[in-house]
Amino acid sequence: MKKSIFLFLTGVLLIMCLSGCGKTEYNLLYDGYGFESKKTKYTAGETVTVYYDLIATDTDYSFFLDCDDVSFKQDYDNSHGFVFTFTMPDHDVTIGVKSRNSMEYDPGAMNGYGNNPDGADDGTDAPAGKGMWVCPECGYNANTGGFCSNCGRKKDA
Ligand SMILES: [Zn+2]
Repeated sequence: MKKSIFLFLTGVLLIMCLSGCGKTEYNLLYDGYGFESKKTKYTAGETVTVYYDLIATDTDYSFFLDCDDVSFKQDYDNSHGFVFTFTMPDHDVTIGVKSRNSMEYDPGAMNGYGNNPDGADDGTDAPAGKGMWVCPECGYNANTGGFCSNCGRKKDA
């Protein structure tokens, strides 16, 4: 008698779990704009497909999920853009994107120091000829007068 009650209770628990727990849906959330999926709620074990088509040129994208226990597959499709697939775990999942401009910014390229604008530079800081002086302000090295002929700075006494 006791055994049948135990079996009965086990059966009830199983049915409750199959009909209850098994149908629990979890939220698919987006961190950022541009994500798209057929549904916003998935049951655990279901395959989730997310598209991302907000793609700009010269931009690097790194996509992530907010949990460590789920790994996703990243593909690229010409009609959809990025395509992500993963298996829905038994909790909500947020998919997000971090983007940054991939154009390399090189501040040194805009600020070459020591080059003389008129081409008198011979590659050194030495005067270009006898009796000439190098301007400490702009680096022009072929000055002969009392003032720099490139920037107008007064010659040091
Ligand atoms: Zn000068």
